Amino acid sequence: MKRIVTREDYVQSLKDLRSVVYYNGKRVEDVTGHPAMQPHINSAALTYELALRPENEDLMTAVSHLSGKKINRFTHIHQSVDDLIKKILMMRLIAHETGSCFQRCVGFDALNATYMTAYDTDQKHSTDYFERFKKYLLHVQESNVMVVGGMTDPKGDRSLSPSQQADPDLFTHIVERRPDGIVIRGAKVHMTGGVNSHEILIMPTQAMKEADRDYAVACALPLNTPGVTLIFGRQTNEERKMEEGPDAGNPRFGVVGGEAMIVFDNIFVPWERVFLCGEYDMTGLFVERFATLHRQNYGGCKGGVSDVLIGATALAAEYQGTASASHIREKLAEMMHLAETIYCGSVACSAMGFKTPSGAYYPDPLLANTTKHNVTRHIYEISRLAHDIAGGIIATMPFAHDLENSDVGDYVRKFLAGAGGVKTEDRMKILRLVENMSGGTALAESMHGAGSPQSQKVMYGRLGNLEQKKRWAKKIVNID
Ligand code: SF4
Ligand code: FE
Repeated sequence: MKRIVTREDYVQSLKDLRSVVYYNGKRVEDVTGHPAMQPHINSAALTYELALRPENEDLMTAVSHLSGKKINRFTHIHQSVDDLIKKILMMRLIAHETGSCFQRCVGFDALNATYMTAYDTDQKHSTDYFERFKKYLLHVQESNVMVVGGMTDPKGDRSLSPSQQADPDLFTHIVERRPDGIVIRGAKVHMTGGVNSHEILIMPTQAMKEADRDYAVACALPLNTPGVTLIFGRQTNEERKMEEGPDAGNPRFGVVGGEAMIVFDNIFVPWERVFLCGEYDMTGLFVERFATLHRQNYGGCKGGVSDVLIGATALAAEYQGTASASHIREKLAEMMHLAETIYCGSVACSAMGFKTPSGAYYPDPLLANTTKHNVTRHIYEISRLAHDIAGGIIATMPFAHDLENSDVGDYVRKFLAGAGGVKTEDRMKILRLVENMSGGTALAESMHGAGSPQSQKVMYGRLGNLEQKKRWAKKIVNID
């Protein structure tokens, strides 16, 4: 595959890929230019475009430890604590440009999780996944493709294990082992950036036992492989992406990542792209690593997205003459405090990162989970404050098209006029941006992206070391 360098290369590569994509009951022949998908393509394209700017070189590119060549950081394996911190700075930088999810981090985290775990699997099982994976990684670094991190399975009845499900396909599994590779069947859901990625790196979705051996699978495949189908998910405010005027919200970059269900109907994967095949005892570690690497990010990207929302909210206040009220200034300060708090978490878990046996660096898992858990709360509070400051108008404002109507246009312009002669259209644009960024899909993503809050609480039980905390308390009051 030709190396993808520019935004134009990226868009052309998606045209050429021709994955099987469905949207709202219809097949989409070309995802580029499709109004529901173009905003997500625009934001992912910035991971290519911004990396070409000299001022971003240090954050957005890296030197491959395999080839010694300069690569896009989204294809890099973290070689130091510095790399872990740069990942977060890069995410905040891109989020300032998009105000929404740019999707490519999921594959980035999947590459790093698989790298570390393939190494450990080889140590324990005398397999050769690590060498295979390094070859695959070189291909990703050299072609600069966008990879989906495929972790979450549909899961069916959550009280049953993968092998106990009435329908065996509810977890992605190996249906056949052949001399030249494996055949898999199943699906992955909530796949961020799925329709505008080139490949998927499939990983196990949860810790598994021996009976679930066939579900312990990690492998990579191009998304245009025959038998792979992508079904785009519906989003809150979906129609806003079709708008161009003041009603659009964030017309260029959309809301969150554009998630899809990806179905695998008997897909053959050659051995050189298989990185776990039946080693069920490695699945728990696999999941923990991917989850930690993705939870690490959330103070970076959501910190950056929050900065844009804080800016939009401050403008909404300015446009309606409330900006100098002391309670508004105090609430804006509170929003900044929350945004910086989540950012602190991402930087901290990166700074406390360490080297894994594979040589790749890994963020502190307890702190990474705490970071993501704070995001599930603070983004709601930031959004609550945005609604408080912007006012009820974000829920009741007429359509932008009303401005163009000869009967009511003058009324809307007159009665939505802002302070100090600000244009009504500009006020509407900013209020729609606040609505867009603080609305349903964005909040749900902050809650459930990178794992629901309960999955972070489970990690406190595992990593929180309650026994040590009890010992410290006992020692202070002299209890044996
Ligand atoms: Fe990246 Fe954030 Fe989107 Fe996850 S939610 S893919 S970390 S931008
Ligand atoms: Fe996410």
